[in-house]
Amino acid sequence: MTGTTHQMIALIAAFWVLLSYPVSLGPVLAIIAIFAVMVGALTPDLDQPTASLFRRTLGGKTVHKLFSAVSGGHRHFTHSLLGIAIIALMLRWIILTFIQPEFYPQAFIVLAAFLIGYISHPIADTLTDQGVPWLWPIPWSLKLPPGPEELRVTTGSFVELFLVRGALLVVGFLLLSSHWQTLVHLFK
Ligand SMILES: [Zn+2]
Repeated sequence: MTGTTHQMIALIAAFWVLLSYPVSLGPVLAIIAIFAVMVGALTPDLDQPTASLFRRTLGGKTVHKLFSAVSGGHRHFTHSLLGIAIIALMLRWIILTFIQPEFYPQAFIVLAAFLIGYISHPIADTLTDQGVPWLWPIPWSLKLPPGPEELRVTTGSFVELFLVRGALLVVGFLLLSSHWQTLVHLFK
C-alpha cells in the first residue's frame, strides 16, 4: 500500500487505541505523538528504494543501501514480528540510555505512538497481493483473504486509491464525529 494510505490507517488505529485508553497529553506532546504515529506508519517501507525519506534527504541513497543490506530486502525484516520486536527494543534502549529519567513517561508515550503506527503497517499490507512475511526469516507470507488473489488490494490500484481510501475517510469521519471529545481531551 502507498504511504498515504498507511498513514490514514495508522491514524485511525491510533484513535481507536485512544478510545480504549483516553489520555490527556497537552498540546505539544499530543502533536508529537500524532507525528510519531505517522512516521511509524512509513518506517517499515524504508527498505524500499523508492522510500521518499531516502529520495529527499542528502546521502539518502547510501543510507538506503546500508538499510537494505541489513534488512534483507523489501518487506522482510521490517515487516516481521522479529523486526518489530528488535526495533522496539532498540528504541527502548535509546530512550533509557539517552533520555533523562524525568522524561521517561513522555518518551514512552511517543514510542507507543510510533509503534501503533508501525504495527498498523504490516497488518494493512497483509491485505495486499504480496502479503507479509510475519515469521521472517521463515520464507512464508500471510495473505488475507487467502484467495482468490483478486480479493486482495494491489498497491496503487484504483481499489486502493479510491475504494480503500474512501472507506478510510468515512470510517475516520464517523469515529471522530462520534468521539470528538476524546480527541479534544488528548490536547488538554
Ligand atoms: Zn509495506
